[in-house]
Amino acid sequence: GCNAERVAGVLRAGAETVAEHKAELIDLDRAIGDADHGENLDRGFAAVLAALDAGVPETPGAVLKVAATTLISKVGGAAGPLYGTAFLRAATKLGDVSELDGAAVAAGLRAALDGVVARGKAEVGDATMVDALEPAVEAAERTHSDGGDVAAVLSAAADAAKEGADSTVPLTARKGRASYLGERSVGHADPGATSTALLLRSFAEAAR
Ligand code: ADP
Ligand code: MG
Ligand code: MG
Repeated sequence: GCNAERVAGVLRAGAETVAEHKAELIDLDRAIGDADHGENLDRGFAAVLAALDAGVPETPGAVLKVAATTLISKVGGAAGPLYGTAFLRAATKLGDVSELDGAAVAAGLRAALDGVVARGKAEVGDATMVDALEPAVEAAERTHSDGGDVAAVLSAAADAAKEGADSTVPLTARKGRASYLGERSVGHADPGATSTALLLRSFAEAAR
């Protein structure tokens, strides 16, 4: 099982990954946006780390809620509210269960996607984080149905998210700042889809 302490460890791994890939995410956003995605996320996840260092709440849902409120308050731009909503919806979905299994992780990811879509109105093919998150959720649900545990569900989600992020390269962005470029956004990976894939990979590795 995956208790609150493990979930905090998963988020700490995410923070480490964001810090490691900060420059890469800045470069991706420089090509089709305003070059702040790596900075925004790194500031947010550093604050999540600080919040968890101050004390890990009792349940996985409460840990994710701390991440959500921290990201919403510290990360500006489009990605802050979107990632914040994702973590908040997952937290709400999990309620006060004390241990996560594969089913809970798949359900939490589905709730996160629903929140991002409700807020940002993007569909697969618009070249946003949804292009990574939606296939990730579908892979998570399939892997859970096949009897996969938390690590297997997250690993399948990470693989699908990476493929989804890569699939944004030939697309014209239709949402967010990159959409202002029209067809000039073609040929670049979406920063938010890329950070989603990186985060899910780090979560999967930390959950093993
Ligand atoms: P900003 O564009 O405000 O500078 P960031 O650079 O932090 O914010 O985040 C940009 C990312 O946000 C994009 O790469 C994209 O993945 C995501 N994004 C932007 N708008 C939307 C939307 N409507 N729905 C889903 N994701 C979006
Ligand atoms: Mg930006
Ligand atoms: Mg910005």
